Amino acid sequence: MFADLNDKTVLITGSTKGIGRAAAVAFARQGAIVGINSSQKDSAAEELIAQLESEGARFAYYERDLTKSGECETLVNEFVDQFGSLDVLVNNAGGLGVRKGLESLEDDDFNLVMDLNLRSVIMTTRFAMPHLKASAEKRGETASVISTGSIAGREGGGLGASLYGGSKAMLHNLHRNWVKEFTKDNVRFNIVAPGTIDTAFHADKSAEVKEKIASTIAMGRLGTSEEVAPSFLFLASHAASGYITGQVIDVNGGQMCP
Ligand code: NAD
Repeated sequence: MFADLNDKTVLITGSTKGIGRAAAVAFARQGAIVGINSSQKDSAAEELIAQLESEGARFAYYERDLTKSGECETLVNEFVDQFGSLDVLVNNAGGLGVRKGLESLEDDDFNLVMDLNLRSVIMTTRFAMPHLKASAEKRGETASVISTGSIAGREGGGLGASLYGGSKAMLHNLHRNWVKEFTKDNVRFNIVAPGTIDTAFHADKSAEVKEKIASTIAMGRLGTSEEVAPSFLFLASHAASGYITGQVIDVNGGQMCP
């Protein structure tokens, strides 16, 4: 569908499970060369590696904890050393971190959520920029950064998820600033903002709670990771979205306020 993604080098953070995993499989099926990552090489990582191998994908796995700035830098360098360029960066690593009311929040909670959802994106993008600029110059088309935001970045997040919702709101806003700084270099920045997608992210919720959430969604059900993945392909493709930057694409089945 997105023929220009063939042979593109695409690094996807947090991509052994859920939304990132579906994106990794989708990019590989377009012929892209894919970097997959998680903080731990667990059974999910092994399964994805086996699947990509069986599909004949060109890829490499990198075990890096992106809550640490040094690991963000190492991840980017490892990928570029291995594949020679970076055309597309997908910042997907992230998560709830803690579910706590305001009056229970501690410094460690703040650090955990901000490191996971913001330091990871800011530092990985920071170290990726020279390579993205070089890609745009060499190819004569835009390079692309896509980060996974959230409906929580606009609606505030569910009860106990204020830090998470706030971190995603900041992420949405950071992108708009980076558009001002880097459009001259032909690098685009867009957000994919999922609604409630049925992944390990919601493992702490009962079936009853999930049903309640589904009732806030016009389509009456949670989304799947495979339904989110094509939006990353669209925003990565210069041919499809070369004039789109600074935007948030909501993928949420018509969800209004989780
Ligand atoms: P998930 O838990 O299924 O997957 C998260 C992935 O990130 C895993 O591969 C995990 O190994 C990796 N990861 C976690 N911490 C990491 C770290 N420190 N360094 C590197 N990798 C790390 O979650 P998901 O639901 O697929 O969420 C993916 C993204 O989508 C997150 O940014 C999340 O905030 C966002 N999101 C999810 C939903 C949802 O409903 N599931 C909604 C909106 C936004």
